[in-house]
Amino acid sequence: MADYDVIVIGAGPAGYVAAIKASQLGLKTACVEKWIDEQSKPVYGGTCLNTGCIPSKALLDSSHKFAEASHGFEVHGIQVSNVGIDVPAMIARKEKVVKQLTGGIAGLFKVNKVEGISGTGKLLKNKIVEVTDHDGKVLTFSADNIILASGSVPIEIPPTPLDGEVIVDSTGALEFQEVPKRLGVIGAGVIGLELGSVWSRLGAEVVVLEAVDAFLPMVDQQIAKEAKKILTKQGLDIRLGAKVTASTLKKGKAKGVTVTFEDSEGEKKEDFDKLIVCVGRRPLTETLLSDDCGVETDERGFIVVDDHCSTGLAGIYAVGDSVRGPMLAHKGSEEGVMVAEIIAGQKASLNYDLIPNVIYTHPEIAAVGKTEEQLKAEGVKYNTGVFPFAASGRALAANDSDGMVKILADAETDRVLGCHIIGPSAADLAQTMVVAMEFSTSAEDIGMTVFSHPALCEAVHEAALAVNGHAIHIANRKKR
Ligand code: FAD
Ligand code: AMP
Repeated sequence: MADYDVIVIGAGPAGYVAAIKASQLGLKTACVEKWIDEQSKPVYGGTCLNTGCIPSKALLDSSHKFAEASHGFEVHGIQVSNVGIDVPAMIARKEKVVKQLTGGIAGLFKVNKVEGISGTGKLLKNKIVEVTDHDGKVLTFSADNIILASGSVPIEIPPTPLDGEVIVDSTGALEFQEVPKRLGVIGAGVIGLELGSVWSRLGAEVVVLEAVDAFLPMVDQQIAKEAKKILTKQGLDIRLGAKVTASTLKKGKAKGVTVTFEDSEGEKKEDFDKLIVCVGRRPLTETLLSDDCGVETDERGFIVVDDHCSTGLAGIYAVGDSVRGPMLAHKGSEEGVMVAEIIAGQKASLNYDLIPNVIYTHPEIAAVGKTEEQLKAEGVKYNTGVFPFAASGRALAANDSDGMVKILADAETDRVLGCHIIGPSAADLAQTMVVAMEFSTSAEDIGMTVFSHPALCEAVHEAALAVNGHAIHIANRKKR
């Protein structure tokens, strides 16, 4: 008999959720995690809780409050002077939030009877997991089912090797102890824009160098255009078509880096005090699998799985950032739940078409479903409804009225195919549409629903009404 019904390797949001769910379904479950703290105690929560979603949002919230206090209150008639920032205190608060949450996972493991195994796991053949603990001791465990959830790590590029002090990755950018005067960010993706925003709000002069000519190519381009305008107004100097090719660390006492990049005009150089490399993430699978375990990876290192996260080998699954699809915590968690249910003998699936995506700049940018560009490429006929927050009473009352809600619906059936929002609380507003779209809503259904007044969600209501030319609080465009 195997030691466990289920062994999960990795305790990030994909792995720890899978482990808790499996145990809740009555399966004897263990979760192997290699992350430890200064006291050699296991740390759960993976990238999300430790160096990703949560700490970045803690700093985004702190820096937003600072920016508001610095220049957002006068309009309300509130006078504030001598606003200052204690960066080490801000970083310490972020760490406190992280500790509280990671400790919470340890508690959840306990109440749900998930056994934590501390060490680095490797899948051997015949569903054996080898665990090397932090003293180098090797143990092996067998399980009827294995869930691989080893996650991802930041990509490094040869032109900008990290030195951990001046040139850092996203993890290093969550640890600065003072505001850099001039900060370079390589990559105008989600993480680059969020971290660039944090330090820009605190007073850094931020230059974002992005190799590709398009801004946020995966985002609906009407929303992306608005985002670029707003972020530029906030002070981010976003240079598109700027490919970083080299960097030289300054010698001597004056720390810093000279970055070389190429744009349409040729080679250029910029000096920075700090440089954040945010050029994407790659799956962490190179040491996870023995050569003979039978699990396949693709050319980029992602574990090959089907729509149900099966590797094709009986009882071996993979979830989260280490498999195809968007690298998002909630996507991995839902995969974890689905796999646990399948192992427990239930029918389960995940609607990959309706995974929401959020960029936590201010205003937030949130989306679900198809963009206008995707619908055009697919030859789908659609109607569009747009409602600007400038026409929302609640947004104006809060002096937070940049942005819009955009809803795309099938021209024939009126079924909502996409919702794209840039604006206050966009993540929460888009989530209402995720729920509605999960139930195949039409724009008319949303239009017939009662929304509270005055609330930001009224912008969603009006955008849905606008799809069919029925908006009340803006002039309706002709149906296209
Ligand atoms: P991970 O969170 O990477 O966890 C994998 C775990 O497995 C780690 O704890 C690792 O130590 C462990 N592990 C790996 N190999 C082994 C092994 N061999 N043995 C034992 N343990 C192992 N996503 C969002 O949805 N929203 C956001 O706002 C968001 N913000 C982000 C901000 C930043 C700065 C970053 C870097 C990421 C952000 N993400 C966000 C992405 C999100 O963090 C990831 O999608 C998510 O953490 C992936 O979950 P995972 O469980 O697959 O992997
Ligand atoms: P994401 O994958 O969303 O985190 O975004 C990473 C971004 O980094 C992408 O938009 C890439 O085009 C960009 N990028 C990658 N390499 C370079 C480079 N050498 N110089 C500038 N931008 C880069």
